[in-house]
Amino acid sequence: MQINISSIKNEVGASKHAELDETFNPIEFDGEDVKFKEPVRISLDITNAGDFFNVQGTVSTVIELNCGRCLENFNYVLEFDFNEDYYPVKEENKLLEDEEGIPFTGEEINLEPEIKANIQLSIPMRQVCSEECQGLCTHCGVNLNKKQCGCKDDNVDPRMAVLQDLFKKE
Ligand SMILES: [Zn+2]
Ligand SMILES: [Zn+2]
Repeated sequence: MQINISSIKNEVGASKHAELDETFNPIEFDGEDVKFKEPVRISLDITNAGDFFNVQGTVSTVIELNCGRCLENFNYVLEFDFNEDYYPVKEENKLLEDEEGIPFTGEEINLEPEIKANIQLSIPMRQVCSEECQGLCTHCGVNLNKKQCGCKDDNVDPRMAVLQDLFKKE
């Protein structure tokens, strides 16, 4: 995932646009492998800002997550803005302490580490296939989004059971 900056590197203010479609291997999140269902689409503008190159744009893809309620896999659209500054450095030099940004050498900027890190940050901690997800029946384990089971009737809150008994008596 390299961006070549040779066409803009000698002119402050010059910029170029890049569109990339990258196939990613699964990435680890919270001890699980998260699969990509589509290539990662990266749309960026790279600008020569004098001391550094600003890279900004959008990243989007579809990943497969596992619902915490019904335990089914579902597709999740992941989309975020990307904005990083890359400082050209000679191999033997390091970034000055007060400079915030990412060092690179030569004419190619490798975006992969930052894109990967940003993807990991964008994966939601709480993964639910839909706000309406009914989850699994706590008694028989049936997926209540797909099927109704008979368990509900036997599963009455004890406080409600008292009321039910009262109604039966009347
Ligand atoms: Zn679900
Ligand atoms: Zn059930």
